[in-house]
Order: sequence, then structure tokens, then C-alpha cells
Amino acid sequence: MTEKKKSLNFLEQIIEEDLSKGLDRSKLRFRFPPEPNGYLHIGHAASICLNFGLGQTYNAPVNLRFDDTNPTKEEQEYVDAIKNDIHWLGFKWAEELYSSDYFQQLYDWAILLIKKGKAYVDDQTSAQIAEQKGTPTKDGINSPFRDRSIEENLALFEKMKNGEFDEGSHVLRAKISMSAINMLMRDPIIYRVLKKSHHRTGNDWNIYPMYDWTHGESDYIEQISHSICTLEFKHHRELYNWFLKQVYDGENLKPKQREFARRNLSYTVMSKRKLLQLVEEGLVKGWGDPRMPTISGLRRRGYTPKSIRDFSETAGIAKRDNVTDIALLEFHIKNELNKTAPRVMAVLNPVKLVITNYPEGKEEILIAENNPEDENAGTREVPFSREIYIEREDFREQANKKFFRLKLDKEVRLKNAYIIKANSVVKDNKGEIIEIHCTYDKDSKSGSGSEASKRKVKGTIHWVSIKNALKAEVRLYDRLFTDEAPDSHKDKDFKEFINPDSLKIIKNAFVEPSLKTAKIGDRFQFQRLGYFNVDNDSTFDKLVFNRTVPLRDSWAKMEQKK
Ligand code: ATP
Ligand code: MG
Repeated sequence: MTEKKKSLNFLEQIIEEDLSKGLDRSKLRFRFPPEPNGYLHIGHAASICLNFGLGQTYNAPVNLRFDDTNPTKEEQEYVDAIKNDIHWLGFKWAEELYSSDYFQQLYDWAILLIKKGKAYVDDQTSAQIAEQKGTPTKDGINSPFRDRSIEENLALFEKMKNGEFDEGSHVLRAKISMSAINMLMRDPIIYRVLKKSHHRTGNDWNIYPMYDWTHGESDYIEQISHSICTLEFKHHRELYNWFLKQVYDGENLKPKQREFARRNLSYTVMSKRKLLQLVEEGLVKGWGDPRMPTISGLRRRGYTPKSIRDFSETAGIAKRDNVTDIALLEFHIKNELNKTAPRVMAVLNPVKLVITNYPEGKEEILIAENNPEDENAGTREVPFSREIYIEREDFREQANKKFFRLKLDKEVRLKNAYIIKANSVVKDNKGEIIEIHCTYDKDSKSGSGSEASKRKVKGTIHWVSIKNALKAEVRLYDRLFTDEAPDSHKDKDFKEFINPDSLKIIKNAFVEPSLKTAKIGDRFQFQRLGYFNVDNDSTFDKLVFNRTVPLRDSWAKMEQKK
């Protein structure tokens, strides 16, 4: 066990108990079992961190198993993306495995079930089967095909396999009980006819095994000691155990299914089906759109693997469904970047400011700290000159006492530079300010140690020197949904809550010249604005930045006002 760990989560407690009851420590084995029908999201990260975390804690192998039994939805693109994301999160799997590798074994075991009189081929349609299911308070009805002979079942199942039946015409069902309290035990379907090409097995199979039959048996084949899944599978546990019992050899380890609560996050949706809709309907730019809760989206947005792991750790493992505030995820990236991201100055909504008593043509190189939170981060050079850009929002002709930025006849400090005082403005014929004229106190240079430099002024604002500034595109991302739980409304589709302002593109932002050498993926704090990273679209001639997260949380403020 790692020393730092505070208390065991309930799954670790279960494992500890199993160990104390005699389970051999070397038998511990876990798996992460994604279906390759979409990209991984932050919910999957909870499961990844949990399973691989257990692997680290107990020094046990963790398999990556693709649960690829539904060829209609699965693709190689997803397999590749999933592997890439898990790597990026910082985890290593013991073996890369596929449920489809077990198709033959699963088929052989299905024949074993038939031979034991525990499975039968049903010729009814799925609608008929559903009709006979009954309700939790009412027994189901036996299928008219339930008592077929073993020989007949074997022959029919073979025909299913050989493609002699149409899709939907026949299924193989387990013969359990049509009056079981657990509805899933009412003769569940094990195989269906599906004449689709599979991304790995091609056209080898005309039948495909169902989830319940596949999952437990795959766990058994791999000798997974603890098969951890999410709560919606709690009712499946009985069936999981029933299936295992049928194939258990009495010697090997019998896997144990245990459940934990799915990770839900506020202001987003987390089902692959819904995320796919956003992609297919063009509401976002692909699975890796920086607004998506996918690992690839978060990566492009500027999130780090550590921030996602830390978030997963803090949000913890719960027994009951709950919603985690997205602010917690944002906290973790801000917390990390505060310590690691170099500070730079960027102006997103520029207005020109002229320092009238600063010599024309003069240029000074000021020294600025890269990161006050990190004494090893060093310093950089920032050019200063007579004409600079500041944010339009940082100036008002008149303002009350609470406005600590620049106003006429008052002083502010220019970050890393001098104290200035605003004297007058120049406006265009529409009345919009196009220039602010100021004077500077030449003795007030930051860090010079002079009396004037120590003078306290209320506000500090950021700026860039016009003649040295680099033009950049800045993409301001915000939450993708305006509602805390967009998919919780019975009468409304989740897409009705899409935030129309989730992306604002600023084409004419200006950044300090030190960013000339910034590379794709580099992360910065734009002082007073937030954390930004260099987007994949960035080129040497045209820098493109994404806002990962603002410094202050405008949403929290809006919520308070409600
Ligand atoms: P989705 O509903 O988003 O499509 P899924 O459960 O169908 O998710 P799988 O690929 O089957 O996706 O999931 C792989 C593993 O990740 C499973 O063990 C599943 O329980 C777990 N998982 C999926 N979503 C979450 C979540 N939101 N929180 C925690 N674990 C999750
Ligand atoms: Mg699934």
C-alpha cells in the first residue's frame, strides 16, 4: 500500500477482506473493459483510475479488454483512440485483449449449456419474447420453444451460426426461470443472429454473444479476480454468477463482480450515445472538440493527465449515484497550472494607450518573473515602449471607487512596468475610444527598489507593447450546456440546453513576443485572464490559443445572482 493513502475505499475494503479470507495476493487481477463504440470520457477516467490504481496499489496486472461484441457500432478508430487516451493518462495495461478473441470459446460453452439442457433456441421475434417477459410482480410465460430437445437445439444453433437464419428470426436463450424476481433471469438471450462484418473477425460469425454472456466469461478466461463495473449492472450480478457457475471447473479462480456509482459531471452529458449525437449533428467539431467531456477534448482544451487523475482521486468512489460539480475538475487544472504554467501577458480586447511623456522611438527591455509560484521558473524579457495595448474593459472615463483599473486622472500600475496616470482620450466619430493618453512616473519601475516603485496604487493591469506584439487567435471556450443536468429533463431533449456561447473566437488578440517560440500543447497563464494552451491549429505564422479555464469562475458568480 502507498503510505500516503488516507482510508480505503469500499472496493479496496472488499479486496482486503478477500485477502484476509485466504485469496492469494498473486491472484489479484483487474481489467478495464471499454466497448470501442466511442471515445473515452471523463467518466471512463474514473473507472480507469480506479482499476489501474488498484493495479498499482496491489502490484497486480490490469488488462485492457475491448468489449467488442456489437459489430454494428464498433470501429478500429475507437480502439486506437482508447489506447491513446489510456496511455496519455499515464497508465500501462498488462495485456491488450478483445472479447472477440473469445468468440470460439464462448460458442463452445454455449453448446455446453445446450447439452446440459440449460439453453434453447427460440424462434420468436424479439417483440413476442418481450411480451412474455411479465413484470416484476407478474410471472412471465414460457416460450413455446422452451422444451425443445437437446438435439434440435444443437442443430438449430448450428444453423444460426452458419448463417442459415435471418437476423431477428432466432435467438439462443438461457433456460433459467420465467418467474424469477430478477427480470434479467427470465431466460435471457445469449446469442443473436447478426450478419455484420466485425472490425476484427470480419465475416467469420453470423451470431454474436450478448453482453452478459460475454463479460463474465471473458473475466473467467482472463482470471480477473475483481470485475468492477458501474451500478447499473448490479442486477446483472445474479446472471453473471449463474453463467459462471455453468462453466466453472472447480479449480480456477471465480471472478467477482462488484459495482460502484458512475461518475456524472454537472453541465455536461456523459453517455457515448449522446456524445455521438453531438458529433454527428455537427454541434461540436468531433469527439476531440475542446468543449467535449472526452479525454481527447480535455487534452486539446489544455487539461493535463495529472489534473484528471487528481480529479478522479478527489471525487472518489461512491456507492450511490451522484453528480460531481464540474468546478472540481476546473479546480484541479487551475491548481496544477498555477504551479507550473509560465505567466505571460496577452490582450484579448485591445485599445491603444499612448504614454505621452515616454520618449518616441525608445524601447526598454523589462524583466518579468515567469512564475512567482515557482522559484526555479526564472525570468523573461518583456519589451516596453510608448504605445501599448491594454484591455478595453480595463479603462473607464469615469467609474466608482470599486473600479480598481484605469480611469481619468487616476493611477494604475502596468504589470512588470511603470505606474501610469490617464489624462485624456481620443474618440472616433461614433464616440468610441480609440486612444487613451497617459503619462508615466519614470521612477516607478517595478523591481527597481526606488521609493516611487514601492508606492501603492490600487490596481495593476496587463498590457503588450504594440510594436513588439504578436497577433494571435484566441478561442474562448465555455461550458457546453447551460443546464446543470441537461439530460435529466423528461420533456426536453438535452440538446435544447446547449450553450450558444460555448465558443467565442477572437481573431485579433495580441500577445507578448516571448510567445513566438510557443509550441503546440504548451500551457500558459495569460495574466489576469486565465490558463491557455497552444492549439493544434497553431502555426509559426499564426498562433492559436485555447482557453483551458478562466482564472475566476464567472459561472459561480452567475449562480449566486440567481
Ligand atoms: P456510456 O454509457 O458512456 O456509453 P458505457 O458504460 O457504455 O458508457 P463502456 O465502454 O462499456 O461504456 O465502459 C467501459 C468501462 O467504463 C465500464 O466498466 C463502465 O462501467 C465504465 N464507465 C463508463 N462510464 C462511466 C462513468 N460515467 N463513470 C464511471 N465508470 C464508467
Ligand atoms: Mg457499454
